[in-house]
Amino acid sequence: LRVPAKPVIPFIEGDGIGADVTPVMREVVDAAVHKAYGDTRAIAWMEVYAGEKATRVYGDDVWLPDETMDAMREYLVAIKGPLTTPVGGGIRSLNVALRQTLDLYVCLRPVRYYDGTPSPVKAPEKTDMVIFRENSEDIYAGIEWAAETAEARKLIAYLQAEMGVTNIRFPESSGVGIKPVSREGTERLVRKAIQYAIDNGRKSVTLVHKGNIMKFTEGAFKAWGYALAQREFGAQPLDGGPWMRLTNPRTGDDIVIKDVIADAFLQEILLNPQNYEVIATLNLNGDYISDALAAQVGGIGIAPGANLSDSIGIFEATHGTAPMIAGQDKANPGSIVLSAEMMLRHLGWIEAADAIVSGLSGAIKAGRVTDDLARLMTGAETVSCSEFGRCIVAHM
Ligand code: NAD
Repeated sequence: LRVPAKPVIPFIEGDGIGADVTPVMREVVDAAVHKAYGDTRAIAWMEVYAGEKATRVYGDDVWLPDETMDAMREYLVAIKGPLTTPVGGGIRSLNVALRQTLDLYVCLRPVRYYDGTPSPVKAPEKTDMVIFRENSEDIYAGIEWAAETAEARKLIAYLQAEMGVTNIRFPESSGVGIKPVSREGTERLVRKAIQYAIDNGRKSVTLVHKGNIMKFTEGAFKAWGYALAQREFGAQPLDGGPWMRLTNPRTGDDIVIKDVIADAFLQEILLNPQNYEVIATLNLNGDYISDALAAQVGGIGIAPGANLSDSIGIFEATHGTAPMIAGQDKANPGSIVLSAEMMLRHLGWIEAADAIVSGLSGAIKAGRVTDDLARLMTGAETVSCSEFGRCIVAHM
């Protein structure tokens, strides 16, 4: 990216606790940028609308205005708070609509432990992974029909009569869904994951799949992933395969490409998290793995994320709108603050990103945290969302 000294960054405040956490995020980012670069760089924030706030500004049915999409396409980097999923109407989810319209095919979730954060595991500091979750395919793409629809009956009849599906019973009450997984979709995801490992000096990339059962979708994901590593990155089979090894052209170190079956992987992240660094996986597996890993390092309140295409990066809080605590200045701003930290790294503003990391870890170590963390820590003091933001700035 060529980044001007004062880039325009569109932001979506978000619904529910979005109004609590997003202003805190902006203050923290402005302070970090100022700390790192004085007056020579600054972000020109530009509010764009989505979700309930969009319906207030644009009218009842406008949840995702064209102007918001245009801003994403024009400015390429944006940040968003959580959005309420509209009930009824034609929209399944605003997040899914954003991802599909802008072809944001990577859901990126770094999982990293900040010292002092409450965790249900004994050695959470061993967890330091980056998950590349495929965002556009899989059973998650939403190609499904309810049991009572004619389409479901028609598809079942076709499967039985034309496709030789005779070993499965389809009671009248069967809904059906389709799981598309393509070579192109797999390759662009795995390519990004391997490139990330190269750029960030990571030692392994693990393909996580259920290829033992779903051979032509998840099994193909694994096979296509290995084939891409060999063809585009020069990976060679390790001890006869299927694992592979390639040389990082930047550092000369080895990067191991390996695979693990998804159920075993969920055990592995509890037992041996230190063996995994970069994860490349399909949509549904990635969904489960991201939240399971987030829980190990402090929960969704501080788990950051981003959705990326080849040109656009939208950085976002990973939690929802938490309506029960909205508007009370109680929510943890950590998730969107750390998403902003990822955004600054994406811009190449590394010193500002580092200032956020030191500010947040300082605030947690000092035991001055929001209620979600404080109630799991001994001796911590509960502070408000905005006060937590000020603590982060004070510890930069
Ligand atoms: P949620 O993440 O809003 O809440 C789950 C639990 O975590 C609640 O107990 C909540 O209080 C707590 N929590 C979440 N974020 C927190 C924070 N920053 N600080 C402290 N506590 C926090 O999930 P939900 O209740 O399933 O969903 C509520 C709404 O959010 C729904 O409309 C859903 O569709 C939407 N949602 C949006 C996104 C998104 O925009 N990315 C993601 C998930 C859910």
